[in-house]
Amino acid sequence: MKCKKCGSKASVNMRQHKLALRKDHYLEWIPEQTERFIKKYDMFRREEKILVAVSGGKDSLSLWDILQRLGYQADGLYIGLGIDGRRRDVALQRLYDAESHRLAEKFASERSLNLHVVDIQQEYGQAIPMLADISHRGQGKPCAVCGLVKRHVMNRIARDLGYDALATGHNLDDEVAALFGNTLQWAGNFLLRQSPVLPSTSGLARKVKPLCRFYEREMAAYALLRGIEYIYEECPFAEGSTSIYYKELLNRLETDKPGSKLAFYLRFLEARETGLFAAAPASAPDLHPCPNCGQPTSTDDLCSFCRLIGKVSANPLP
Ligand code: SF4
Repeated sequence: MKCKKCGSKASVNMRQHKLALRKDHYLEWIPEQTERFIKKYDMFRREEKILVAVSGGKDSLSLWDILQRLGYQADGLYIGLGIDGRRRDVALQRLYDAESHRLAEKFASERSLNLHVVDIQQEYGQAIPMLADISHRGQGKPCAVCGLVKRHVMNRIARDLGYDALATGHNLDDEVAALFGNTLQWAGNFLLRQSPVLPSTSGLARKVKPLCRFYEREMAAYALLRGIEYIYEECPFAEGSTSIYYKELLNRLETDKPGSKLAFYLRFLEARETGLFAAAPASAPDLHPCPNCGQPTSTDDLCSFCRLIGKVSANPLP
């Protein structure tokens, strides 16, 4: 396969785009495309301050790398979840959390970037799995509590430290799996809120997903070719999740019909813009500040996060 730009041997072949590129051209193409998506969806401007949520994985570290290469003012936020997990492929067994934290710190220090770190156990008394156990939420899996806590912390840091936008490393595969799940359920409110940009509203920071049009394998290739060291292992609680099952199904479709995932996502975005979902219920619920933490909530009482922490404080571990 030959590089479309120079005709020499290509390093990455993207069947879905009918495009093959040599390493250096691929490493130029990804930031060029990212800049195009940032502008197309009006995610943020050059003078704005961006907070990138970094997990130590390929997508979030690549996103931070790309934004830095493009000249944006982007700081990182790492949230220590306290999730145990063992690397099976190295003699030195490291905790999943410790390893992802180490890689996020390494990435930041090698490039002299500013990384904020929030350790959930230090801040709230318990790590994520324990918060889930004590609050009896999530039917044995901590993912619901983890999502709630991460959203709360990301919004708090973005808001308190004056960032204009919170950027996450969701790629096309993540977005299409979520879209597929929401479509199977006809979850109107979730479909209305699925977008490359969620504008800031009533105390919620603007959320942006600059990598939402890149396939997961494209980001893996970028991280590899850029020499970014990232954690290969998934969070141990991801195993058997519905989103991974959807991704496998969609990958089978993509193998038979290259470009299907991208077309599904882009046609959805077009449909949103042309008002296909106009009859769905209003997407933005009536929000007001939580009396305890001040973050927006749709309930009349404490927000879900403060109720969770209150429940855990009232039921400490024996
Ligand atoms: Fe949190 Fe792991 Fe679940 Fe993801 S898979 S939501 S990181 S517990």
